[in-house]
Amino acid sequence: MSLDNTSHPDRPGPDELVPSRYALRVGEIDVLVVSDGVLSLPGAMLGHNVDPAVRAAWLNDMFLPPDVLEWALNVVVVRSGDRTILIDAGMGMEFPDLPRSGKLVRRLEASGIDLASVTDVVLTHLHMDHCGGLLVEGVRDRLRPDLRVHLAAAEAKFWEAPDFSRVSMPPGFPDALRRTAKNFLKEYHSRLRPFVNEYEVAPGVLVTRTGGHTPGHSVVRLASGGDRLTFAGDAVFQVGFEHPDWYNGFEHDPEEATRVRVRLLRELAANRESLVATHLSFPSVCHVAVDGDVFRWVPAFWDY
Ligand SMILES: [Zn+2]
Repeated sequence: MSLDNTSHPDRPGPDELVPSRYALRVGEIDVLVVSDGVLSLPGAMLGHNVDPAVRAAWLNDMFLPPDVLEWALNVVVVRSGDRTILIDAGMGMEFPDLPRSGKLVRRLEASGIDLASVTDVVLTHLHMDHCGGLLVEGVRDRLRPDLRVHLAAAEAKFWEAPDFSRVSMPPGFPDALRRTAKNFLKEYHSRLRPFVNEYEVAPGVLVTRTGGHTPGHSVVRLASGGDRLTFAGDAVFQVGFEHPDWYNGFEHDPEEATRVRVRLLRELAANRESLVATHLSFPSVCHVAVDGDVFRWVPAFWDY
């Protein structure tokens, strides 16, 4: 085994020193969190509506660098009944300046998951770090012809004429996001199964539209045998527990995104269910506690 943990495109996944996958169960439902890699993004995107000095102090308190952060990029595979469901698909090759992401296919293979075994894809929204993995060359052909892709109808509609007036992104991102979403809708048009507000993909696997981050942004709620877990997509970022009112640069409607985040965190704290989210540090399995007016992040204990 190599002790070099950097990426080698010519080397198969099992050689990676860190396997970047984490399995857990929610009642009868199997859940696997898989890392697509990390995204190197400006720290300012964590809260573009706050005083830079306040933001810098928070980053310092978290032992994080002041300028560029490595954002986790978590994807989830769920098995329930006879369905194998891929929830989001990572970045793929959509943005060449983010070379540390786009590892999903290799890491699925290393986990023993064949793309042809996936019966359903659920997309929380159409930002490129969530759907780009499905546009990697050769992926569409390896997926089964009867694959169902579940996406909120409002999300598909939004990307016909997307509004970027409220976001705060580095140069190049809006164009890449527009291009990727449009390309995705073209490539996967015949496999789309749009839903209005919610859809039960498999027993105990419910996708629910929240809006906010994007108009069709959705979360996936798992429930089985008294256990519950929510995959929150981009409704919750690391800073969102302590500062739920900090606007993330990718939020197309930051006020509504804040309302969605607070409502969801309150609910998760009240019913004590597990939370997994795209950009929380891998494997991101955690709980939410109420802490005065805000929230506290409680990482799950490793249990292997
Ligand atoms: Zn994202």
